[in-house]
Amino acid sequence: MNHLEQSIVLFIIYFISVGFSPISEPKPTKHICGTTWGFYGHKRINRMATFSLPPELFTFYKKNIEFITEHAVDPDKRRYAAKGEAERHYIDIDHYVKPGEDPFLVVPKQWKAAVEKFSEDTLKAYGIVPWHLDVMVRRLTKAFKTKNLNRILQYSAELGHYVGDAHVPLHTTENYNGQMTGQKGIHGFWESRIPEIAAEDYDYLIGRCEYIEDPLEKAWEVVKQSSNAVDSVLSFERKLTERWPKDQKYSYENRGQVMMKVYSKEFSLEYQRMLNGMQEKRMRASILTTASFWYTAWVNAGQPDLSNLNGEITEDMKKQMEKNDQFFRNGKAVGRDFEN
Ligand SMILES: [Zn+2]
Ligand SMILES: [Zn+2]
Repeated sequence: MNHLEQSIVLFIIYFISVGFSPISEPKPTKHICGTTWGFYGHKRINRMATFSLPPELFTFYKKNIEFITEHAVDPDKRRYAAKGEAERHYIDIDHYVKPGEDPFLVVPKQWKAAVEKFSEDTLKAYGIVPWHLDVMVRRLTKAFKTKNLNRILQYSAELGHYVGDAHVPLHTTENYNGQMTGQKGIHGFWESRIPEIAAEDYDYLIGRCEYIEDPLEKAWEVVKQSSNAVDSVLSFERKLTERWPKDQKYSYENRGQVMMKVYSKEFSLEYQRMLNGMQEKRMRASILTTASFWYTAWVNAGQPDLSNLNGEITEDMKKQMEKNDQFFRNGKAVGRDFEN
C-alpha cells in the first residue's frame, strides 16, 4: 500500500468510527451506524469488564485481554460482509407503538411469541438486539462447556459489543440519528464525539460482576433503560441548540490531513453536563453487564477449569477475521446506515 492509499484507508476508518462531516474528503462516504461508542469505547468496555470478574475467571480473561479488547469491534466490521448482522445491533422499540403506549407491554419478550405477533421479517427490519444478547450468552455457555478456546474468545468479545450497543439510547429508537426531529448527527455526537472528548476521565472501577438468573430478562431491562433515556437525549440537545450561539455549536478540527466539522468541545461538554454524565453511566453499566454475562455463561456451563486452556486461536479463525477486516476496509455496510 502506498502512502496515499494508506492515508485514505486511515481516513475512512477514522471517519466511520467517529462519524463527523468532513469539509473535504478523498472519497465520498457515509457515517455508518454500528460503530457505537466509537471503536475506543467498545474496546474499553471489553477490557474493563475483565477486571470485574471473580478470580477463577479473571486469570483466563486477563491472559487473553488483548484479544478480547481488539475484537470488541468485530461485529461492526462484519456488517460489511454478512447479511443478518446489521439488525443485531439495535431495536427500534418505538416502532411498535403509538405515542403514549408502552412498547415493553406490546412487544413480547420471548422470540417465538414476538415472531407470531409481528413476523420474523418485521422483527429483523427493526432490530433484534435483546434476543441476540440471549443467543450470545447461550453460544458462550456452549463454548465453555466444550472448552473451545476459539469460540470462548470470539463470543466473549462479541457479546461485549452487543451489550455496549444495547446500552446506547439511540439504538432503541426509529429516530436513531435525530433524522425525524431535525437533529441529524446526534447519533455520532452522543456515542462517539462525547466519549472521544471525555471518556479518558470516566471512572471505570465498578466492582464485582454478578450472576444473571435470566439473561433475556436482563437484556430487556437494558433496552428499557436505554429507551427511557431517548427523550432526554433528544430534548436536551434541542434545548441546548436553542440557547447556544449558532456559530459555536460546531468547530473544525484537523484530523491527519483532513479538516473535519465536529460538535465543538464546549457544546459537547455542556450537553454531557445537562445529561448528568449519562454516557459515563451507560458505559459503566455496559462493563458490568458484559462481565456478568461472561460469568453467567461460565457458571451455566458448570464452571469448567480453564487453567489448562492455553494456545493460540486457529489459522481458520485468523483467516475469517482477516476477511472481515478486508470487507471493512473496502466495503459498504449492509443494512442500516445514515448520512450526516
Ligand atoms: Zn454495533
Ligand atoms: Zn450507533
